Formats: sequence, C-alpha cells, structure tokens
Amino acid sequence: MVKVLKFGGSSLADAEQFRKVAAIINAEPERRYVVASAPGKRFFEDEKVTDLLLHCHALATDRNPFDETFRRISDRFNGIIKDLGLSLNIQPELDQVKEAIQNGIGKDYVASRGEYFNSMILADFLQVPFLDAAECIFFGNDGKLDSKKTHTVLENRLAMMPRAVIPGFYGILPGGEIKTFSRGGSDITGSIVAEAIEADIYENWTDVSGMLMADPRIIDNPAPIDIITYRELRELSYMGATVLHEDAVFPVRRSGIPINIRNTNRPEDKGTMIVSHTEEKSKDRIITGVAGKTGFTAIYIERDMMNSELGYGRRVLETLERRGINFEHLPSGIDTVTVVVNSKELEGKLDLVVADLKRAVRPDTIRVYEDLAMVAVVGRGMISEPGVAAKVFTALAKEHINIRMIDQGSSELNIIVGIAAKDYLTALKAIYKEFEPKKL
Ligand code: ASP
Repeated sequence: MVKVLKFGGSSLADAEQFRKVAAIINAEPERRYVVASAPGKRFFEDEKVTDLLLHCHALATDRNPFDETFRRISDRFNGIIKDLGLSLNIQPELDQVKEAIQNGIGKDYVASRGEYFNSMILADFLQVPFLDAAECIFFGNDGKLDSKKTHTVLENRLAMMPRAVIPGFYGILPGGEIKTFSRGGSDITGSIVAEAIEADIYENWTDVSGMLMADPRIIDNPAPIDIITYRELRELSYMGATVLHEDAVFPVRRSGIPINIRNTNRPEDKGTMIVSHTEEKSKDRIITGVAGKTGFTAIYIERDMMNSELGYGRRVLETLERRGINFEHLPSGIDTVTVVVNSKELEGKLDLVVADLKRAVRPDTIRVYEDLAMVAVVGRGMISEPGVAAKVFTALAKEHINIRMIDQGSSELNIIVGIAAKDYLTALKAIYKEFEPKKL
C-alpha cells in the first residue's frame, strides 16, 4: 500500500504545523511520498510566502527596492528552521534567489521558491530525501504539462526512492526555465505523483475536515460530506465550492485513485473521500450538496414552430460564438430556448448580441433577464429518489422566490434553478434546510 500526501500552505505555515505534519506522516509507514506547499497564513491577516515572493518580483520589475519584503520571506524560513531545531542552512541559497530577482529572473521561478525551500526544510525535518520538482515535473513548449515524460521520469525516479518530499506547484520547461501551475497548483503536483506511483490513495491535507454540504459562510454549520464522486465534485466546484484545484482531479481520476481531503489540525476526522464510483447512499442523504453563484444573464428566445425548424439552436449558438461568447446552460421548451451566459462575457456586448440574434434567428420574442443566480442541487442519490425536484420547488415557493429557469442536467445528477440574484442567499438557505440530514 502506498499513500501520497499533499500538505497545503496553512498546514506548513510554522514549526508547530510542521510537527503536526510529521506526526501524521510518521503515523503510517504507507505514507511515503509527500508534496509540500509554501508556508501559508498563520493567522487571518498574515501573508502567504508565495504572495510575498510575487510582491518582490513586482517591486524588482519596477526597479523598486524589495529588501524589506525579501527579509520577511527569509525570516519565515529561518524561523521555522530555528524553531524546529534543525542545523540546515539555506541562507546562501536565499541570497542567490535574492540576487536572481535583482537580475530580473522570471516570475514563475520566483513564485516557486516558496515550495522549494519549504520542501527542503520538511525533508530535513523528516529525514526523508528531497526530490526537486524541476527534475521530475515537465512542461512542453506550449506551456502545458508533458504528462508522458513526467509520468515516465517520476515513475523511474520514485522506483529508486522508497520515500521522498517533492515541492508542489512547479516544474520545468524544455529550455530549463521554471514554470508554475496556476495558484493553488500544489494539489495538481500531488495528483500527478499519486498517478505516477499508482498510489492507493491521494491524501490532500488542508485546514478543513473535508467538503461540506453547503458554503459555511452562508449556512450555519453545514453537515460534512463523507463521500462524493468526481462527477458530483465537478458539479459543485463549477458552482464555486472549492477545496481542491480543479485540474487536480484529472490525473488521479484517470487511474481511479481516490482523494481523501483531510484536516491537519484534526487528523482524527475522516474527511471527505472523493471516488470515481460509489454505491454508497446514506438513508438520511438524498443530496450530496448544494451550491450556487450569482452573475448570470439569461437570453430567452421564443418562436412559433421553432421545434420543427432544423438548425435553429445551432444558429442561436453560432451567433453567440461569433462574438466569442460561451454559454453555461441551455434549457429549452417546445418553441423556446434560453441561453444562460456568465454576465461578464456580455459586458459591453449585450445590445449587439441581441441585435445579432434578432437578425440571425428572427425570434417572435426575445427577452433578457440580468442579475440572475444559479443554484445547483447535486446528488447521485437523486436518480432513484422521486420528489427531489418537488422539494426544491416547495422550499423556494415557501420563501416566495420566483423560479426563472429550471435545468435538470441529463446526467440526473443535478437540478439547477435560476432565480433573481437578490434571492440567492434565501434560496440557498431554504434548499439546504429542506435537505439537511437529521442530526444524530
Ligand atoms: N503556494 C502556491 C499558492 O499559494 C501554490 C499552492 O499552495 O498550492 O498558490
């Protein structure tokens, strides 16, 4: 059995957190490969080392002094080393990085040093070999991950290393330059390592005990999700529920490796298990979660006999495509079709798009609804459970919320309702209450 563990920034923010991480790793011999983030926030107003590094780069680019900001970075790392009682000396390398920034080295290189140094410290503390991501995570000339080369090299390197600490977030371009993933990208590194080593599980350690059924900023104390499928996760993340970098799912999903989201500060919690398939449905849970977001616009189009007009839908979408607009949902009736678009995409273009549509598809009626919110009720258990939609609609009706649009995805994994953005919070609370599992 092999486990790959990734620890996020708050899990490695100071020496105390490092000790918790070491205790977690040492608790099980299967926990052999560790991917580490840069030191994150220790308290709410604190600064992430990655942000400080990017700030240094921005200051240097504008030819401003950055000594003070860089000192804060060095202090963070040297503080951790000292508090852990290590004899490791990274000062000469820190000085080299500072000089490189002064000399205009690339932004990604600078951003990646948080992971680099933190992983070196963790490796030293654990007495486990350090493997630089620059030696095993490869990007192609197009800037995309070279999965094949990465897989082969990682597989070969790790075959000779029973244990390793690998920095997350970055890799190397064919020309030898460092390139990072997008922010939060250490999750992706963890997933790539898990796939290459054919891990039995990818444990993603963070500062929450997994995913919750709803956004805790909106709902008081929402119930945790014990198990969720990749598909459900994708639906909920699209609506803004984030615990994991979106691209982190693909490598492990391909090889059916489950992801377990765990809390470094409460290792006794089971966290959330993300799996490719599960038959497990708990009696008290019809839905897995509810999430939503505001900022949508719906363009409603009606035309007599649209139903029998070949190519109508295509022409509607083509018209949008020509203006570079992507659609999010496309509910349709017999002679109606509604295109739901992210409002940002229509900024400054709405009138033009409506005029285009009038010309291209000659609707009898065309109406635009701005300031909409979408709420998605997601759950694999919905397929076999009658009355889920009725419950959603009743919850909204009780609050006198008018439903502008309904879309039940063909996967039957979700029901999406469009409502006025002003009703968003009330709607989310009402739906959650309707489906809240009974407290034991
Ligand atoms: N340190 C990087 C960030 O702050 C990457 C990561 O933590 O995953 O985005």
